[in-house]
Amino acid sequence: MWRRFSKRAAILCGFVLFAAASFAGLRITAAQGTPAGAPRLRWYKGNTHTHTLNSDGDSTPDEVVRWYREHGYQFLVLTDHNYLTNVEALNSLHGAEEKFLVIPGEEVTDRFGEKPLHMNGLNLKQVVEPQGGQSVVDTLQRNVDAVRSVEGVPHINHPNFGWAITADELRQVERTRLFEIYNGHPQVNNFSGGGLPGLEEIWDAILSSGRLLYGIAVDDAHVFKRPWDAGAARPGRGWVVVRAERLSAAALLDAMERGDFYASTGVELADYQIENRTLRITVRERGATKFRVQFIGAGGRLLAEAVMNPATYQIRGDEQYVRARVLDSNGAAAWTQPVPVASSPAPQR
Ligand SMILES: [Zn+2]
Ligand SMILES: [Zn+2]
Repeated sequence: MWRRFSKRAAILCGFVLFAAASFAGLRITAAQGTPAGAPRLRWYKGNTHTHTLNSDGDSTPDEVVRWYREHGYQFLVLTDHNYLTNVEALNSLHGAEEKFLVIPGEEVTDRFGEKPLHMNGLNLKQVVEPQGGQSVVDTLQRNVDAVRSVEGVPHINHPNFGWAITADELRQVERTRLFEIYNGHPQVNNFSGGGLPGLEEIWDAILSSGRLLYGIAVDDAHVFKRPWDAGAARPGRGWVVVRAERLSAAALLDAMERGDFYASTGVELADYQIENRTLRITVRERGATKFRVQFIGAGGRLLAEAVMNPATYQIRGDEQYVRARVLDSNGAAAWTQPVPVASSPAPQR
């Protein structure tokens, strides 16, 4: 069902091109339009953070993969703690061209003092040992570099687990684009409390500092066997939907690292795009559920809220960045990726 809305031009990144200079370290190299003859882009639903019996999950890799295959996902990354599961046999059994793919991965599980510092390496060629370090930032950086050195893609996990990583620390980590803004594990403090910021506030603080990071949602599933246990880290609570040319690890991860995806805990988008400085979000409506779309700019400021579908926002030029959050009347959400905004052209008189 994710393919039905795959054809719209992905003009988003073309716009990012125009504005990228305002974000330190960002380099967008190509517009994502779909001219005649260009590959058709499709949407693929996936989870990039999952545990099995190979670390502290309760089910075999086969059972875990089967769960996602049977629940409407197109890809899954197995990420056990400091363990890289060989996925060849799993793909022989469950993989299917353009339908389902298992990607190898690992949760590189490190700490600095009492602070747990976890990061996923996606599509790793070999296992990455936790590197240690002299500070939170140093430890994260060493692990990012270790993941990159074996051609993996890093994403930094649950910054508020153990209240381990502050916005100021996270924004200093280089050569990484992705971090979790939502994790379905029940003890990772997605939201604010005790005067400490939630993950969306951390995201806005980082974006407002000029560092571009993209936000992902994951379930961090550990428990597949106790359906009555609502307090367990269960599957299906958070995921990403990626716009890519094909269902391959390289195409999916390239798209994620250029921000061509959205994160979700249940809201499904039919499309999102930018055209003529207008950000347009189209929600796939279901039943009697109602939606509101919030457009957010620098400092986490609410720029506008819309209840029409599609919801649109006309970019003024002074926002620094614009991102959208879709909230539904039953508690689910989706988050689109931030679009950097350059200063507006001189006003015409
Ligand atoms: Zn973790
Ligand atoms: Zn985990």
